Order: sequence, then structure tokens, then C-alpha cells
Amino acid sequence: MKVLISVDIEGVAGVYHPEQTRAGNTEYERARLLMAEEANAAIAGAFEGGAREVFVNDSHGGYRNMPPDRLDPRAVAIQGKPRTLGMMAGLEAGIDAVVLIGCHARAHSRGILAHTINSFAFARVVLNGRELGEAGLNGALAAEYGAPVAAASGDDVFIAETAEHLAGTRFIEVKRATGNNSGISLSPERARAAIREGVAAALGGPLPPPFRIPGPIRAEIRTQTPALADLFCMWPTLERLSGDDVAFDAPSVEAALRMVNSLSAMSSMLR
Ligand SMILES: [Zn+2]
Repeated sequence: MKVLISVDIEGVAGVYHPEQTRAGNTEYERARLLMAEEANAAIAGAFEGGAREVFVNDSHGGYRNMPPDRLDPRAVAIQGKPRTLGMMAGLEAGIDAVVLIGCHARAHSRGILAHTINSFAFARVVLNGRELGEAGLNGALAAEYGAPVAAASGDDVFIAETAEHLAGTRFIEVKRATGNNSGISLSPERARAAIREGVAAALGGPLPPPFRIPGPIRAEIRTQTPALADLFCMWPTLERLSGDDVAFDAPSVEAALRMVNSLSAMSSMLR
């Protein structure tokens, strides 16, 4: 069994504040190690659950947060940006199951550090009528490669909203949200034990079905400001629906997500 573990930082135990997620300060330097240790817990759980090969994907910000020498050497690391499949890079290798670690709730929800792909750019991402956060979007992308999301960790708000879409995924709660920048967390040590155990159990049992959203895809995006909608609609295939809503059609989830990631990159012009 080949397993892809995609690791974000906002849903890691002990992480609450944007400063912990941005390079260039001592809080981040500590948080990136917490992230790497949750990844290691998932890698250990994956091998215990029957994985023969593990790919660990650094999926936050510039995709190079986890110091490679702190990662379990049994896994290979996927790092750096840009890359075609973004947070799901590695699916190309023919993955049997995906594990998502450090996940957060979608934009404008009540979860800790909630956002969808780019907090500056997007207020909401809807595919074929379903509003999805990153885990749902990435789960649908993985499904196009035949892979289910076996397990996912994060806060309680993330879990409640994602469980509606990812049926059969085993969710591992490492903290509870009391606000956008506040919560109640397991200690990092206990969070890692829960992740290791949860991932091993998920991969060792029957895998859930992949979360398929059959194409064609109608993607509707609410931008954070009308200026962003102006910018995005310079792209000729985007349609303006209202001051801050845009839409486009894509043949597949992969094509839709590649467009969303391209818009995310464009948005830096207005920062
Ligand atoms: Zn992130």
C-alpha cells in the first residue's frame, strides 16, 4: 500500500495564531517542528497500518515548512512550490490512500485559523453546489486518482463540516475551537499518540470510498473583495456573478483546483 500524507499547519495541536503559520519569527520556528512531529506520528501510524511506501507532502504556505532532517527517514518528502497538484502532489505516484494532517475549517467558519486555500483571496469555494474546505477539495482531487481519504486530523469545526462530505474517513480531533485564534488543545504528545493510533487503525481496516465529484465542474468562488473579482475576471474564461462572486466551468476537479490555485497566485498582485 502506498500512502500520501499531506500536512498543513493550522490544524496542528498547539497552533492558534497566524504568527505561528508565517515564516520569519520564533513562534513559527517552534510551530513548524510541531507540524513535523505530527507528520512523523502519521508516518509511524501508516507503516503500522500496512503501508509499504509513504510520501509526506508539505502543504502549507510555501510548502517548505518541515525541516527535512526532522522527518522520519522511512518516508520521502515532497516540498517546494509551485507544483501542479498543490497540496495533493504525490498522487501521480499511484497512491492507495491519503491521510490529511493539520487540517483547518473552511473560510468564514468558526474554526481555528479557518480559511480556504488563501485567506486573502477566497471567502468561499463551491464545486457543483457543494461548499468545500481544503480537505473536501483535496479529497475530491484524490478521488480522481482513485484514492480515498482514510484519516484526517484537525479541530472540531473542521471535523464537523468535513464529515458531511468525506463519508467513512476516520477523523482525529486534536483541539477544539473557541474562536478563530483560540481553542483548547491536546498536548502535542497526546495529539501525536492519537494521530499515530488513528492513522494505523484507518489504514489497517477497510478503506472508505473515494469522494468523487463527477465532472463537468461548475466552480463558484466568493472573493474577499470586489477588487479581487475584477482581477480574476481578467482571465477570459471567468464569469462575473456579482460584486464579489465569480464562476468558471472545468472538466474535472483537478482542472478546477488548478484554476483556483492559479487565481490564488494571481491574488498576490493586490496584497
Ligand atoms: Zn496552511
